[in-house]
This record gives sequence, structure tokens and C-alpha cells, in this order.
Amino acid sequence: MQAIPYGRQKIDQEDIDAVVSTLQADFLTQGPKVNEFEDKFAKYVGAKYAVAVNNATSGLHIAVSALGLKVGERVITTPITFAASANCVRFVGGEVWFSDIDPDTFLLSLEHTKRLIESKPKGFFKGIIPVDFAGLPVNLEGFRELADKHGLWIIEDACHAPGGYFTDSKGNIQMCGNGNYANIGVFSFHPVKHIACGEGGMVTTNSEMLYKKLASLRTHGISKDNMSENHGGWFYEMQELGYNYRLTDIQSALGITQLAKNDKGVVRRNEIANTYKNAFKGKINYQDQPKGAYNAHHLFVIEVEDRKGLYDFLRTHRIFAQIHYIPVHTLPYYKDIGYESADLSNSEMYYSKCISLPMYPSLTDEEQRFVIEKVLSFVYG
Ligand SMILES: *Cc1c(COP(=O)(O)O)cnc(C)c1O
Repeated sequence: MQAIPYGRQKIDQEDIDAVVSTLQADFLTQGPKVNEFEDKFAKYVGAKYAVAVNNATSGLHIAVSALGLKVGERVITTPITFAASANCVRFVGGEVWFSDIDPDTFLLSLEHTKRLIESKPKGFFKGIIPVDFAGLPVNLEGFRELADKHGLWIIEDACHAPGGYFTDSKGNIQMCGNGNYANIGVFSFHPVKHIACGEGGMVTTNSEMLYKKLASLRTHGISKDNMSENHGGWFYEMQELGYNYRLTDIQSALGITQLAKNDKGVVRRNEIANTYKNAFKGKINYQDQPKGAYNAHHLFVIEVEDRKGLYDFLRTHRIFAQIHYIPVHTLPYYKDIGYESADLSNSEMYYSKCISLPMYPSLTDEEQRFVIEKVLSFVYG
């Protein structure tokens, strides 16, 4: 059997044709494909505005900048995420505070976050960055209530979750990144994620003010809006310090065809998840699925006692499982800052057991049966 990775992109002829025709068109970057991708993505998640960027890390950077985060200001996130969810706060000199996960959903715990916020004076924190970990949407309704009470903003790191949703207390479906509860949502188009652009990302919001700020920061802080004085057609102003975080037309063309296939991919991911769950039920622990939530399943994580043993055993069968994630507060850069006093025991316990099994739409039934058989044979001898 072929090697089986934990994740894999799927590029078909339609994707290739779309990229080739963009290469033959007038614009390689800053052309019509970027706008088309933004419009289609905004519609897909149900947000008013979308800003395409060169990767989600840049997207997180301009998100915290657009919200006005400054040196020394404090933001809360989960330790069970990719480092970029926290790094964006450091890019602008902010302080990262970690709050623990819920041991069943593996998501940032509303209870822990509430306790952390309420243990400090008013105004101590500026924002919260919850992560739709593994593709399971955070129920942002409770976080919004908490944030409003304390004057905080919310950035939803939805990199794992295009197509996922939770159901709010009124019974309404809330798509990840729709901006109804979070101020800003951020998505990644790295090939291991759902939609592959090579590199790429999208920032979504319902606020026109934030949209304008995000679009400006993506392109050097330059604007051509102020044409009141008659300077001439070449005129532009640099209003603020921005970056070049643009996505190309080539990547956007790929993003458009990939986005069109996302629903089908998420359905297949859920089929694969259900097959794993049926095989492991009552034997091996996996991520809880709260009522009304639809998991986009970037990952399928299980918890086992001898995690290193299973990881190595699977590799001998050319099954390349992966670990998501080493808790961010234990990475050397963050360790040096010092998080000894924070109680993050659920995150540390989770990390000692977690392992992500192969999860991608093109995984075959035969390959999945092989993975399940090997996992069960390791755990049960
Ligand atoms: C992948 C990922 C990012 C960063 O995405 P890039 O597009 O690679 O910059 C940020 N947050 C989470 C949770 C991710 O999984």
C-alpha cells in the first residue's frame, strides 16, 4: 500500500485549467480573480466582506492591527493551536495570555476564559482569539456575551473550519467566519487545509470600517481615495504603515475552483469521521461533537495512552499520523517569556495523548480500513 499521510490536497484538471488560463491572461496579480475569489468566499461563509491575503499568518497580523492592538496590550488564546494564532499578538508587541481547553471538545474553554478575565481588573485584556480546532466550530455566542461585558474584540481563527458551523440559542446556523459573533474571521489556504492555493488566506468581517482598514494594511497602507485635489491620475497617498500581503491572481484562480468543491470535501470528511467513530466507539476517545455543530474536520484526533508508541508503530506501516499541537506555551520562544504559573493542565494532558489520523477527501475506504485495523491492533495488542 502507498504511504498514507495525515492530510493531502486534491488538485484536478479543472483547477489546473483555471491556473493556466490566468497565466495567459493580462494580470498575474491584483486582477479580476482576486475580487472574484473574495466575493465568492464572503458569500460562502455568509460575511459581508472578505480580504484575500498571501497566508493566514499575514491575515492574523492585519486583523490584530486593524483592531488597534498596541504594545503591551493583552490577548487571550488557546495553547492547542498552530503558533501563528498567538504570534500575531507578538508581531505588534502585545502580550499573549493562554487559557485552558475543554477536555472533551479540545476547544478554548469559555469557563476558563471567563475565570481568567474576571480574575483581573477591568480593561486588563483587549481581545480573545478562539480557534475552530480540528474543524469544530467554537460556539461564539457565549464568547461574544463575555467579550461585550468586558469590552473585548474577538478574532475567530477559522483556519481549520471553512464549511463548519454551530447553531446558536435561537436555532440559527452560524457558519464559521460569518462575522455575526466575531469581529474578524481568518482562513488559511495552505495545502494541508481544505482549500489549497499553495499559500493563501482570507480575512472576513461584517464591519465596513474594519474591511477598509484590512484592505489598506494588506497593500502598504496606500489609498487612492483622496482625489479631491487635482494632482493627476498617478496620485496616491500612504495613510499608514502597511504591508504587501497580497494574494496573486494565479492563486485566486485556484482558490475559486477549490472553494467550489469545498462542500463536497467536507461531506466526505464527515463520512470518514463517522467511520472512525463507529470503529472506535467505547474503545478510543475522540473529539466530542456538541449538539448543533457541524465539524469541517480538518483533522481527526484520537487520544491514546501510549501516543509515541502508536505514532512509531503506524510509521512502520507507512501511515504518517501527526501531532496537533505541541502546546504553544511550551515552545522555546514562549517558554522564555514564562507561563509556569498558568494552569493549562487540560491542554498538557491532551497533548500527552493526542494523535491525528489520516483525514482528507481522497482517502479511500480501503486505506481507512487499513488505518483502523492498525490502530486497534496497537491499542488492543
Ligand atoms: C495553518 C494555520 C495558521 C496559519 O496559516 P498559514 O496560511 O500557513 O499562515 C493559523 N492558525 C491555524 C489554527 C492554522 O492551522
